[in-house]
Amino acid sequence: MIADVRMKLPGPNSKKYLALSKKYEPRCMSQQTPVVWANGKGVKVTDVDGNTFIDFTSGVLVTNVGHCHPKLVAAIQKAAAELLNCYDFPTPNRVNLARKLVEKTPANLDNAFLLTTGSETTEAAMRVAKRYTGRHEMISFYGAFHGRTYGAMSMGGKMGGKKKFGPLMPGAIQVPFPYCYRCPFKKKAESCKLFCLEFMDTALNAQSTGDIAALIVEPYQGGAGFIFPPEGFLKSLETWCKSNDILFILDEVQSSFGRTGKFFALEWERLKPNFLCVAKGLGSGVPTAALMAESGIMKCLAPGEMSSTTGGNPLSCAAALAVIKIMEEEILAGNARKIGSIMKPRFEKMAAGSKYMGDVRGKGLVMGLEFVENKKTKEPSEKKTTEFISRCAQKGVLLGKVGIYGNVVRIAPPLVITEEEANEALDIMATIIADMG
Ligand code: PMP
Repeated sequence: MIADVRMKLPGPNSKKYLALSKKYEPRCMSQQTPVVWANGKGVKVTDVDGNTFIDFTSGVLVTNVGHCHPKLVAAIQKAAAELLNCYDFPTPNRVNLARKLVEKTPANLDNAFLLTTGSETTEAAMRVAKRYTGRHEMISFYGAFHGRTYGAMSMGGKMGGKKKFGPLMPGAIQVPFPYCYRCPFKKKAESCKLFCLEFMDTALNAQSTGDIAALIVEPYQGGAGFIFPPEGFLKSLETWCKSNDILFILDEVQSSFGRTGKFFALEWERLKPNFLCVAKGLGSGVPTAALMAESGIMKCLAPGEMSSTTGGNPLSCAAALAVIKIMEEEILAGNARKIGSIMKPRFEKMAAGSKYMGDVRGKGLVMGLEFVENKKTKEPSEKKTTEFISRCAQKGVLLGKVGIYGNVVRIAPPLVITEEEANEALDIMATIIADMG
């Protein structure tokens, strides 16, 4: 048994830190469970009061190899004692990481550009796409999240948080995403024949000046509520981009590194994007990111024209190499598929018996549970979502909340989770959902 919460949350030590946090960094953790993390091991997190939890957040889909994996910790410790900064000079780990990333991604992606955060990768992809094509417009989707910097924010939907931050990047064009549970066209997935794809031509005829550089898309929309497009949508989208001479940017900042049950989510439909953005799981906690791209495109930049102070730093590169090795040795993408296939039917069973769990969706170890007031009207229920999350925390399972309407529970445990650990968390969740009615 892992889950062990012995007091009403937040405990006394957590309360103290939460008060300080509220005073000095009030934007931190504002909407999350009031638990102050002290340490973690694998899927287990302990708070400053000694309560232990099963972590189903992976710290926003980051710690894919589990908290403080001993091999990752050892690699970071070794690197820290050797060299902490090199700016743009190569180091053996940096070179090896770039090569490893090129080897693991589709053959056309033969260049790596090392950065520190996910937002930088999407921003860089868009900049290079503009330079290479000489065009300025960029297509993205309603509900998208590509980061918080200006270009990335301009391409985001509601979750990108652009209210009162205008004006946005000129040339940002948005089209509806296939959110099939709430189809924007009120169609049924079984019979719509991907109408949203067909609608893109109509939307562009209305909005574009005919100067489109690229399209950016997530394999599934994370922030919007773990919205997975129907099978075949992404491949058709890629084909549509190619036939319209539009570069295809795949934002795998959160879907990569085994999360969906493949090393990269692009493997499910054999996608070959012109750019691939990776971050989060790549460093599994150490800030690390990479933009993978085609050399034929990247050569539009002169060396040094785009660079980053901490991108490719020795600590990050050592961490990322260790993460890749752990993922290969422990076959974590396979484990995500295996445990995900045990978990999903259990959630579906919970949903069938619940008045409020309206939809269960996902792949591998990334799933969304959408809460509604009424399954027929599908009125979003943020209240029930919050209730479920806080009751689960009180019983020792940490969950996150996402979604355009704030009504989706984020299921994303570290990929090292065992069947026994998953079942312990699922038993707790099943009891709570049954009690909620
Ligand atoms: N793209 C996607 C799909 C993301 O989920 C995120 C982070 N949630 C980002 C980009 C931005 O990454 P970061 O917060 O590291 O800048």
